[in-house]
Amino acid sequence: MTTKMDEKLEPIFQEVLSRNPGEVEFHQAVREVLESLGPVIVKYPEFGQHKIIERICEPERQIIFRVPWQDDKGNVQINRGFRVEFNSALGPYKGGLRFHESVYLGIIKFLGFEQIFKNALTGLPIGGGKGGSDFDPKGKSDNEIMRFCQSFMTELYRHLGEYTDVPAGDIGVGSREIGYLFGQYKRITNRYESGVITGKGLNYGGSMVRTEATGYGAVFFVDEMLKVRNESFAEKICVVSGSGNVAIYTIEMINELGGKVVACSDSSGYVYDEKGIDLELVKQLKEVERRRISDYTQYRNHARFITGKSIWDIPCQVAMPSATQNELTGKDAQNLIKNGCIAVGEGANMPTTPEGVKKFLEAGVSFGPGKATNAGGVATSALEMQQNASRDSWTFAYTRERLQDIMKNIHEVTYETAEEFGSPRNYVVGANIAGFIKVANAMVAMGLI
Ligand code: GLU
Repeated sequence: MTTKMDEKLEPIFQEVLSRNPGEVEFHQAVREVLESLGPVIVKYPEFGQHKIIERICEPERQIIFRVPWQDDKGNVQINRGFRVEFNSALGPYKGGLRFHESVYLGIIKFLGFEQIFKNALTGLPIGGGKGGSDFDPKGKSDNEIMRFCQSFMTELYRHLGEYTDVPAGDIGVGSREIGYLFGQYKRITNRYESGVITGKGLNYGGSMVRTEATGYGAVFFVDEMLKVRNESFAEKICVVSGSGNVAIYTIEMINELGGKVVACSDSSGYVYDEKGIDLELVKQLKEVERRRISDYTQYRNHARFITGKSIWDIPCQVAMPSATQNELTGKDAQNLIKNGCIAVGEGANMPTTPEGVKKFLEAGVSFGPGKATNAGGVATSALEMQQNASRDSWTFAYTRERLQDIMKNIHEVTYETAEEFGSPRNYVVGANIAGFIKVANAMVAMGLI
């Protein structure tokens, strides 16, 4: 059950609202964490004395910059770039870059804030940060993408470093963009500093399993939640929203574990294929040809493309929202529950609205919040940093095993923390509290910084 906010925390939240006007996604992310922390400030009064919650809600540094670039017609274009370096108590700022037209400071701050706790849950030495731009990559040529990335990095490079701030991908930033960004960093600094960015190609310092990690990890986490219920993925009908990197490798691992995914989507609608989504086709369309998911039905005639409706109307036992924030509403949650859904794993960041989360928890659905469920991506980024630091590269099998261990561990910690703090089986509370305590203790130890 999401709890009401403790009365000692309410004024802190009000202060966050007034200091950050209009940043609704940031408010939403902060509210959810603060609603979980009531029992923590009772057990650890020192966190109150040191004003840890107030400090954690204020980014250590926020960088906003102009990104001028030239399109293929020779026109000058201007975008806005962001990097919010939120918290470095546990390690260098770590978190992806999002290129999407909806990006503004409030989106980057919500993502950066969540990243602090997610990264803490991985158990690896990484702080929290996030960045991006309101640049819209849709329909841009390779050359335009390259020129944009080069301009973006020409400002950003001075803020980065393997011990300072280490970006990676997110929506709109995949291996192509990471290549251009790393190339420009290397050129400007004259340093081959592999550990300055993650998600690199395998031929220049990338890690095995990084591409698959967020999706695979999310399925591993849901599999652990299912085990608690004496269930498994075998024969389960699943719906996975999105059709980007997270969705694709979520589908791949669900297939490996014997489940069947019947739908996926992009921003224009969803594809329903009752025989099971043809993953090779989705990979070809989205990863290779960068086309729309609606083209799927050209190759699979029995499948249907549906637009203007919610993908969550489709009956399923496991739902994995893997597209974007607030894509699964209270009404969607109600439909899923009515149709027999028993587990939800957030592959995206904050894809379920607060009303949706509340409904799932009240109905006893096993609900894996993004900061636990999708932590496998950033965890494998930290493994990439380890490999870069030791100038080594691990095998696929070994890296996958490390990822699976990390996800099992995150499940165990969140499950046990929820029990300990009086909210059994509430992974939202478990993730928020476990992540918070780790960062808070480090902040106390380091004094007033
Ligand atoms: N953007 C991903 C996330 O939301 C990955 C970040 C990273 O690998 O640094 O966690």
